[in-house]
Amino acid sequence: MILEVKDLNVTYNGHNALKNINICINEKEYVCLVGKNGSGKSTFLRSITGLIKADSGEVIYGIDRSEVGYLAQVSGVDPRFPATAKEVIMTGCQKHGIKPFYSKEDHIEFEKICELLKIGPFVNKKMGELSGGQRQRVLLARTLIGKPKLLLLDEPCNGLDSGSIDLFYKILDDLNQSLGITIIMATHDLDEIKNDNVRVVGLEQEVIFDGNIKQYFS
Ligand code: ADP
Ligand code: MG
Repeated sequence: MILEVKDLNVTYNGHNALKNINICINEKEYVCLVGKNGSGKSTFLRSITGLIKADSGEVIYGIDRSEVGYLAQVSGVDPRFPATAKEVIMTGCQKHGIKPFYSKEDHIEFEKICELLKIGPFVNKKMGELSGGQRQRVLLARTLIGKPKLLLLDEPCNGLDSGSIDLFYKILDDLNQSLGITIIMATHDLDEIKNDNVRVVGLEQEVIFDGNIKQYFS
């Protein structure tokens, strides 16, 4: 197991956002968290990363916490945001934090990720000049440069056009199948996911479905 969640409960001002969540995820699984707005998907991801404190329950990792990558739900970027794509990606290098010193290995990793995510052509552009799909690939690259074994993604394709969604999901398939990265992704567009191995977890404060994507649609 890479992640086990036991009896997780989260409330906001007395209102239950998550109730008795029990879930166990193994290495190399690709899990999609689905549920309508307000069903607790972001709360789940935020509580397993420790961004918010659960009322009760346990979150147990089978890997080191430094091997968990998280891509938060974002709605856009101020067009004046001054950093370039490359500058943003490099902030994700492990151990460096905000220090501006990078090793040769960091740069090699950077080149590899740019090729994998097809971001070479706009890597020196400012974040604000990029399309939504390009921006999400840059943020994914920033997460990947920290070499995560477990990738947490919160609705990464929100607001993207279908071509960008297609490319993003192809990249995720590749990360999961070729690199063996475990994925947990909150998503709305399960229809776009063309991967029969996906495990679907339906949330509505509680887990209301847990099974293969084919079972989910039948
Ligand atoms: P989802 O990501 O599935 O749309 P969320 O986890 O964002 O759902 O929200 C779950 C519930 O918790 C919703 O009812 C939402 O209004 C509430 N909620 C989320 N974040 C907060 C917060 N920071 N303060 C108060 N209530 C919140
Ligand atoms: Mg959300």
